[in-house]
Parts: sequence; structure tokens; C-alpha cells
Amino acid sequence: MEKIVEHLKCRIDEKYILKGESMANHTTYKIGGNADIFVIPQNKEELIYCIKVCRENRAEYFILGRGSNLLVSDDGFRGVIINIEDNISKIEVNDDEIYAEAGAGLINVSYKAYINSLSGMEFACGIPGTVGGAVYMNAGAYGGEMKQIVTEVEALDQNNEVKVIYNDEMRFDYRYSAIQDANYVVLSVKIKLTKGEKEEIKNIRERLRLHRQNGQPLDLPNAGSVFKRPEGHYPGKMIEDAGLKGYTIGGAQISEKHANFIVNTGDATAKNVIELIKYIQDEVYNLYGVQLKVEVKMLGEFE
Ligand SMILES: Cc1cc2nc3c(=O)[nH]c(=O)nc-3n(C[C@H](O)[C@H](O)[C@H](O)COP(=O)(O)OP(=O)(O)OC[C@H]3O[C@@H](n4cnc5c(N)ncnc54)[C@H](O)[C@@H]3O)c2cc1C
Repeated sequence: MEKIVEHLKCRIDEKYILKGESMANHTTYKIGGNADIFVIPQNKEELIYCIKVCRENRAEYFILGRGSNLLVSDDGFRGVIINIEDNISKIEVNDDEIYAEAGAGLINVSYKAYINSLSGMEFACGIPGTVGGAVYMNAGAYGGEMKQIVTEVEALDQNNEVKVIYNDEMRFDYRYSAIQDANYVVLSVKIKLTKGEKEEIKNIRERLRLHRQNGQPLDLPNAGSVFKRPEGHYPGKMIEDAGLKGYTIGGAQISEKHANFIVNTGDATAKNVIELIKYIQDEVYNLYGVQLKVEVKMLGEFE
């Protein structure tokens, strides 16, 4: 790893190369052991450089946005975390189009759309990830999803070439995009919206905000929905009907407010969360014969 640090130092200011950084500081679960190296490139060129260094030296690396859909092992990560957040987050509005760099907060982009009377991104006003993470996940809520608004994705491919990928090539599906299999890194995104009435957009945003506030445990660390929706079912309802709300393992608890959320009540470990996930999957399978699939991404070694 020292060799990687030396390479990174050639282009990245040392203060942006952290060693033994706790991932609990970088995930909304506030869980996770240390990463060997945690690097924060300050622009797209530095980002591409970091990825090249890792690839050319065959070092394990992981692209991290806001860590809002991520469970990191208690043992952390043996490799390089490349963090794309506020450091690479330019947002530009051109008529009914928005250009956003991968680290821009989805909430900020949605707000910018509203300020410019652009409709179509209200669904994203409470999703706490980055644009890059949202494209990777095809994030969505209340009937809206990234698939409907993204026109172009600028990405770094496996050969370190910058490519433009158009919407119809992205194979967007429920919490899926082609980026997940292609090992690409999202650099920026173009989004197309429609001109709307500012007051109307404001009202929709407010309605969705209240819905989220009333229905989700926003006061405790979590990573959003734990399980994907199986065809014809709602995991939250199945888990609640199974009587599991409030069930706790260590510091990890099935939220009393929304049963498809696991919350960190203070000292939860990744092991606690994994055990709780397995427990829920077994209970739901035994009751309904439905195998729940996990939406949250996992990083590091789990038993
Ligand atoms: C309170 C709360 C509410 C939520 N509500 C919703 C919701 O309504 N709808 C929804 O869909 N999700 C929701 N989420 C989950 C989460 O916010 C989204 O999945 C979000 O898109 C993840 O973005 P991120 O930047 O945090 O990604 P991270 O968690 O950092 O990463 C997730 C995955 O994306 C990859 N990735 C991140 N950036 C890039 C990039 N630039 N290029 C390539 N790969 C990248 C990572 O490697 C990782 O595999 C919620 C989470 C919380 C905590």
C-alpha cells in the first residue's frame, strides 16, 4: 500500500490521502472499520488519476459517494477508498437541462431544479446520495427514478477512457444500471427536465418531504430501504405483519417507524446488521415463501 500512496502523492495533495480512516465517518449507518487508504480527489482529472493508479497497480479500490446505501464490514476495507462527494460537485443549469458532476448531492440538484422552475426531480428531494451513486443505483421514490430524467452519463470505462453513455444504453431497471456490471465510474450526468410552475413544484416537494418525515426514521443512522421490493410485495409490510418491528440484535434494530429500515441505535456493528438481515430473511421466507433481496451494498469481508 505504501507504493500506492507514493503514486497518489505525485498528483494528490497529501492532506487528501488518509491512512486507516474509519468508514463509520463516511457512511450514513455510522458503521464500518478502517480503510487502508482513503483518498479525496479534488477534481475529475485527479479522480481519473486515482483510478488509474489503483488499476495499474492492481490495488483493490472502491468508489464511495455519500455512503448512504452502504454497509461496511467491521474489519474495514483492505484497499483504496476513492471518495466522490462535495469535492467534485459542480451543478450547471442550461435551459431545461442540468449538468451535474458525480459528487453533487441529489438533494442539491433537486433543489436547483426547483429554484429554476424545472419539474421532474421532485422525487429526489429527500434522497441523501450523490448523483453518481443515484445513477449507479437508479435511485427512485414516489414513482420517479433516475431512468426518467438522465439523458447522458459521462463515465470512465475499464480501459480508463472517458465515454458518454446514453440513456438507452444504461439498461436502467429497478435499483439497477449498467454501471453496476461494467465496472465504470460515473464522472458527470446530464439530466433533462420540463419547465413547470415553481409554486406547484414547491408543493410537491413539501408533500414528499412530509411523507418521508412521517414515514421514515430520519432521526437515527440508517441506509434507507434494506430490501428490494419483490414483485407484488412490500418488504416493509411483510416485516411489520411478521411482528418484527423493533426487533433488535446488538445495536441494530428494525425501525419502529418503517420496518424496511434497519437503524443504528448507537453502537451497532456491521455484524449486528448482517445478523438482523439474515433473521428477517429467514422469518419472511418461512411465513410467505418470499426470498427478500438486499438493496444495500456491502463492502469488505463478512463471515
Ligand atoms: C434516509 C435515507 C433515505 C433514502 N431514500 C432512498 C429513496 O427514496 N430511494 C432510493 O433509491 N434510495 C434511497 N436511499 C439510499 C441512497 O441514498 C441511494 O441509493 C443513493 O443513490 C446512494 O448514493 P451514495 O452517493 O450515497 O452512494 P454510496 O452509498 O456511496 O454507494 C452506493 C453504490 O454506488 C457506487 N457509486 C457511488 N458513486 C459512484 C460513481 N460516481 N461511479 C460509480 N459507482 C458509484 C458505490 O461504489 C456503491 O456500490 C436512502 C438512504 C437514506 C439514508
